[in-house]
Amino acid sequence: MKAIQIHTTGGLEVVHLVEIPTPTPAPGQVLVRVAAIGVNYIENYHRDGRYPVPLPFTLGMEASGTVAALGPGVSDFAIGDPVVSAAVLGAYAEYALVPAAQLLRVPASLDLRQAAAVFLQGLTAHYLAFSTFPLKPGDTALIHAAAGGVGLLLTQMARRLGARVLATVSTPEKAALARQAGADEVILYTHSDFVAETRRLTSGRGVDVVYDSVGKTTFTGSLDCLRPRGLLALFGASSGAVPPLDLIELSRKGSLFLTRPTLGHYTLTRAELESRAADILAWVADGSLRVRMEHTYPLAQARQALLDITSRRTTGKLLLLP
Ligand code: NDP
Repeated sequence: MKAIQIHTTGGLEVVHLVEIPTPTPAPGQVLVRVAAIGVNYIENYHRDGRYPVPLPFTLGMEASGTVAALGPGVSDFAIGDPVVSAAVLGAYAEYALVPAAQLLRVPASLDLRQAAAVFLQGLTAHYLAFSTFPLKPGDTALIHAAAGGVGLLLTQMARRLGARVLATVSTPEKAALARQAGADEVILYTHSDFVAETRRLTSGRGVDVVYDSVGKTTFTGSLDCLRPRGLLALFGASSGAVPPLDLIELSRKGSLFLTRPTLGHYTLTRAELESRAADILAWVADGSLRVRMEHTYPLAQARQALLDITSRRTTGKLLLLP
């Protein structure tokens, strides 16, 4: 089968299309015939070694497809079932292994591309809005990269929960998308200072929560946007890693809360994964959560997809098709 592999960490030049044997599922695993592959920022961290993975490995964590073979002991799935997962062991391939515990059935009302497009970023938006800082009517949230994959979904979920959303984006085109997703106020951070704008838009009070996936370039400003005892959920590092912080800063800036959450810790049990997945798949199926599939690429163009997602040119979701 064809797969996108990495034999050494580095720049995009280490990403290669290779021919490898189709894997056989071990106990507890399912072999999935991949239909659509979600491109996620994390692949770049795996590729450049920021998040170490034993080499060589097949890139990718998110895919949808149909069940092709069951490992010993797996009885919850049948050959041909439509499935999706955000914990695939090498999603950038024609076939991929998935632990059965991390696999979800796709409802008949949803096509496999939609399922792959919403799954990982949708689960992320879900845990941020419902659990990390459970939003409620009257809350105000600042969402960075609001026209991005996670950002468009998080904006919609925050509005679903009745919160007011201030969104930051880099271009007028992205501003229009953030507004379509429900953002109440959009800050073009390339034209105006997002801290000053946030203060102005909250009459000096600050927001209850900042959802920050940008990291290095936004972190200090994000802290400055919070009301006393507000919470910063730093969930990504699209602009680079945040340098070490002297914790007294949290006190000085208003007895702030800071968390660095990750999806795995918000899908700790099968019940938690199923409950979040059921919500997002049902909302996509009934049209109340819109997924923007910006672009699809053939599997062989994985390098281009990885370049595009880090170049700030993209909005919504990118998919690879094997
Ligand atoms: P996005 O579609 O949001 O793409 C990244 C966006 O970040 C860009 O489009 C850009 O938006 C903004 N950005 C700002 N500065 C930079 C920069 N220097 N370089 C690149 N982009 C920049 O990607 P995803 O939705 O796939 O992921 C968003 C983030 O969320 C990533 O950091 C990812 O690692 C993280 N994540 C974390 C998870 C978790 O559980 N912790 C799970 C899933 C994703 P603009 O042009 O508007 O500034």
